[in-house]
Amino acid sequence: MECIFCKIITGEIPAKLIYQDDDIVAFRDISPQAPIHILIIPRKHIERISDMKDEDAGLIGNLVLVGKKIAQDEGITESGFRLVFNNNKDAGQAVFHIHLHLLGGRKFSWPPG
Ligand code: AMP
Repeated sequence: MECIFCKIITGEIPAKLIYQDDDIVAFRDISPQAPIHILIIPRKHIERISDMKDEDAGLIGNLVLVGKKIAQDEGITESGFRLVFNNNKDAGQAVFHIHLHLLGGRKFSWPPG
């Protein structure tokens, strides 16, 4: 198993875990791009959003709901936060196990860089 996020799920690679349930794990990004930068991932190894199947709809919905809950716990609901999936090279995807970025704690620009 070569996937680093699968290794975080099994505990083979350490991470600052902040949430886990039967389907989802969340941990702090090792190279934070904002005061709060958390990655929310499914335990199921799916390489990219464009590989998702109709049967994954519930899982993806739950990733967003976990993002909402963590944002609340981190105190960034009122100030604002961003949820992002990067898909393939133009978006800068570096790890091929889908992950929802939760970013907050500062103001972000739009359009994104
Ligand atoms: P992406 O560019 O969307 O594929 O994002 C991958 C993210 O994973 C980047 O923000 C990295 O900083 C983060 N990352 C890579 N390795 C680790 C790790 N071992 N623990 C936590 N975050 C990681």
